[in-house]
Amino acid sequence: MACGHTVLMRLVASAYAVAQKAGMIVRRVIAEGDLGIVEKTCATDLQTKADRLVQMSICSSLARKFPKLTIIGEEDLPPEEVDQELIEDGQWEEILKQPCPSQYSAIKEEDLVVWVDPLDGTKEYTEGLLDNVTVLIGIAYEGKAIAGVINQPYYNYQAGPDAVLGRTIWGVLGLGAFGFQLKEVPAGKHIITTTRSHSNQLVMDCVTAMNPDDVLRVGGAGNKIIQLIEGKASAYVFASPGCKKWDTCAPEVILHAVGEFIGPYYIWKEEALRNNWKHNDPISH
Ligand code: AMP
Ligand code: MG
Ligand code: MG
Repeated sequence: MACGHTVLMRLVASAYAVAQKAGMIVRRVIAEGDLGIVEKTCATDLQTKADRLVQMSICSSLARKFPKLTIIGEEDLPPEEVDQELIEDGQWEEILKQPCPSQYSAIKEEDLVVWVDPLDGTKEYTEGLLDNVTVLIGIAYEGKAIAGVINQPYYNYQAGPDAVLGRTIWGVLGLGAFGFQLKEVPAGKHIITTTRSHSNQLVMDCVTAMNPDDVLRVGGAGNKIIQLIEGKASAYVFASPGCKKWDTCAPEVILHAVGEFIGPYYIWKEEALRNNWKHNDPISH
């Protein structure tokens, strides 16, 4: 332990600062006007300059401070010297004031895996649907998601010039989730949120079979989880492969910390209660 704080809490405090810097990079790339779009596997699987710069920023910043961590980012990037300007070495002091849950107090740096989605909702980012975009930093221990940070760079972007742009949500299992207002969906309403750009017949059939009152089709796994915790949707349904651990690790922690459930294909609080699923059941991919 350094400075009396556990490795986990120091890592979360650093990830918070790193995620805020990431949000600034995401906004700067749009402001500069050159998105540098590259098709990865197909026209709906894209990478932009922001995906690249943010992954370099997050992975290099965390690796410098925590050299024994395993850090896995979504983007396949050639090894190159990272510009010092992308490095963030700060930490969010408020997080260090929180107690580390006792079950995590002895965790060593080399036991942690960090899953990084530098920009979740890239397709929507390229189409100007900016509040769909999030930066996801998930922390796993023994195969379970235990802590996570989500930055939403364009939170409030349609709320007028005086609104503060961007926010950071964070959570640790056993401690809670912070940086948002927990809300329930209106009583009696079943609202499903699902993919906007990666749909197929199975996804559509599954949504229809659940007979929802309303369906929201939006981009980003992080964005859809925020809709759940803020009472805009009651379930996130995506009956198809495509989401990876960098998409689910940080969001899973935020959901579990507020008592909701993530499963392989769908997330529905009532369903979890009916089936008596446990909060820490690992998700499968
Ligand atoms: P969406 O809800 O479509 O925004 O997808 C949520 C996350 O999963 C995004 O990071 C997508 O890139 C990823 N994803 C989902 N389905 C696919 C797919 N068929 N191909 C590539 N990425 C996908
Ligand atoms: Mg993603
Ligand atoms: Mg991504």
